[in-house]
Amino acid sequence: MKVIVVDDSSTMRRIIKNTLNRLGFTDIIEAEHGLDALSKLDGIELIITDWNMPEMDGLTFVKSVRASNTFKHIPIIMATTEAAKEDIVEAIQSGVNNYVVKPFTPEILKNKIEAVIK
Ligand SMILES: [Mg+2]
Repeated sequence: MKVIVVDDSSTMRRIIKNTLNRLGFTDIIEAEHGLDALSKLDGIELIITDWNMPEMDGLTFVKSVRASNTFKHIPIIMATTEAAKEDIVEAIQSGVNNYVVKPFTPEILKNKIEAVIK
């Protein structure tokens, strides 16, 4: 399963990538922000995206994916420090399938992924 990790922090991308590796995912690409990610979605089967990013933030990115005929069905997990209830509601309403609050354990990410790819 091909996964894209979208985050402006290279450290966070590495952490998420390592976590995905431990969970058995090996086909992983990275993007620094939403705009970068939009050009890399061919063949992607799961998106894990940050919220706060330059150029294009996660919420705008999610809306763009959901507005695309080609990519609108890709499951999206938002991984962010924005943990307020209204933020989560806004993310879900924008088309996010699941939500994980940083920092998270591999087990938590695994559960979130399994919930969206079933
Ligand atoms: Mg960020």
